[in-house]
Amino acid sequence: MRHSTGLPTLIVMCRPCRDVDRPGRKLAELDLGPDGPSQTHHTIGQWSGPDGDDKLHLGCPACGHAPRPIRRQRITQALAAITGKSTVYL
Ligand SMILES: [Zn+2]
Repeated sequence: MRHSTGLPTLIVMCRPCRDVDRPGRKLAELDLGPDGPSQTHHTIGQWSGPDGDDKLHLGCPACGHAPRPIRRQRITQALAAITGKSTVYL
């Protein structure tokens, strides 16, 4: 079931929503392009930092959960380590 085509994709889901069986809320979907990680589809994380894109701030529209900002470097490392799609809960 491995999709070998396409970019590595990291899907970030809301952990509190999962824990109460609220329908899964996608906080962000990122893929790894030539310029580094970028958000795909309609996800709405906000980049911030001295260079404008050092950290990704996420917020759940369903429950208001706001996980700690994720550093761009960590996203890049996570994407580099996966093939196809991977889902994490924050
Ligand atoms: Zn939530």
